[in-house]
Amino acid sequence: MKQHSFFESVCSYVDQAAKYTQYPAGLIEQIKQCNSVYQFNFPVKVKDKGYQVVTGYRVQHSHHRLPVKGGIRYSENVNEDEVKALAALMSYKCALVNVPFGGAKGGVRINAREYSDETLEAITRRYTAELIKKNFISPALDVPAPDYGTGAREMAWIADTYSTFRPDEINSIGCVTGKPLSLHGIKGRTEATGRGVFFGLREAVSVAEDMQKLGLTPGLDGKKVIVQGLGNVGYHAAKYLQEGGAIIIGIAEYNGGILDTTGLDVEEVFQHMQIHGSVMNFKNAKNIENSIELLEYECDILVPAALEEQITSENAPRIQAKIIGEAANGPITSDAEQILLEKGIMIIPDIYLNAGGVTVSYFEWLKNLSHVAFGRMDKRYEELNNNNIIRAVEETTGRQLSKASLDRLVIGPSEKDIVNSGLEETMVTAYYGIREIMLREETTNLRIACFVNALSKIAVAYMDRGIFP
Ligand code: NAD
Repeated sequence: MKQHSFFESVCSYVDQAAKYTQYPAGLIEQIKQCNSVYQFNFPVKVKDKGYQVVTGYRVQHSHHRLPVKGGIRYSENVNEDEVKALAALMSYKCALVNVPFGGAKGGVRINAREYSDETLEAITRRYTAELIKKNFISPALDVPAPDYGTGAREMAWIADTYSTFRPDEINSIGCVTGKPLSLHGIKGRTEATGRGVFFGLREAVSVAEDMQKLGLTPGLDGKKVIVQGLGNVGYHAAKYLQEGGAIIIGIAEYNGGILDTTGLDVEEVFQHMQIHGSVMNFKNAKNIENSIELLEYECDILVPAALEEQITSENAPRIQAKIIGEAANGPITSDAEQILLEKGIMIIPDIYLNAGGVTVSYFEWLKNLSHVAFGRMDKRYEELNNNNIIRAVEETTGRQLSKASLDRLVIGPSEKDIVNSGLEETMVTAYYGIREIMLREETTNLRIACFVNALSKIAVAYMDRGIFP
């Protein structure tokens, strides 16, 4: 059987979802295709090694809403098909969680671990300059963010380069999200994707009826979890899941994994990895040299949070997890998915589960366009209001609240409170929206339910514009 490429897999999900809708075939075809694909090469001078040619990509999948939005990935495996697939996933993800952006993705084909910080800065700035030349970056058109191999530091370099080229553009700082706070990033963005993964899994396991079908009790408490990838998404997801009562029994990294069925402390493992460069040899845990094997161990929830195509038709038959929460993009191939669904495994798809990142990126972009932090204008006003209400209640009842209760009730929301509340609302509402479609269409396939939801919203946006009257 011919294996689907990553982009073909994403298109095949759209085709499956389209069968549940009445939209014209030509419109579905337009939605599936990437609107613009830009590949470019540029030179970089590496200390003691001379010039090297670096390949970069930016793909804009759908212009039904602008700006388009999507992360930038640094990986030696970056290729056109991968960037197209990831850009397409961004369109469906944004539509699903009602973030008003089209989808995009960028990539630089390098192994970031092989370069010094100075060279990475040079590569990032040159990559940004190449995007500027072709209008593939701007707060109004295309707004990148972090992805695999990049973080706040790279976003700061991008923002600085863009502002240098466009000093008179008043919203220039909104050309990229996931920035450090000092460059008008937003509180809660770093942990947003992992936090969103936690909210999504918490909701999924809270539905008693669905858990009963899997032979599980409702709630996160005591659920055994294996996580692949202890990077930005995996670390935060694992941390919040542990705080929420789950037991993290396995952590897989690229250079080895560990298993401890009594539970691992995520923060301690993370610190261990910072010091030793690997999670291996952690306290009483068992080393798993070939870390991909960890995915096949018995657990309630498996969270792939590293890269795509980790569960294929080869290892899918051996997966024992009852629930797979796709924190990474595309960790399950479409062939593997069939096998897993036949085994009765619940798959919570990437376009929903890791949407927390783009949701908070949207909040950051709004903050940048409004040039003021959330909470700054009304925090004190709300505190005053709360105080007045409490004083009125105290006067009416003749009873006084303790100072501790008063402090808790009076306090106005900070930027972080507002961001986390917006993120939780987005993830919870979206989950029940998807589940409703799943029940309505009598499918057990949550991914198809997600695609039906996203596809319908994008189709309506196109039709309302009059492109497809
Ligand atoms: P990251 O670079 O911070 O972390 C990735 C981690 O995976 C690293 O610790 C890396 O060492 C590890 N890893 C690499 N290969 C591995 C392997 N074969 N086995 C086990 N571990 C391996 O990247 P990230 O931002 O956490 O992104 C992870 C995934 O989440 C990607 O698929 C990305 O597209 C997706 N994602 C990220 C965000 C975000 O906000 N960062 C948002 C949505 C989706």
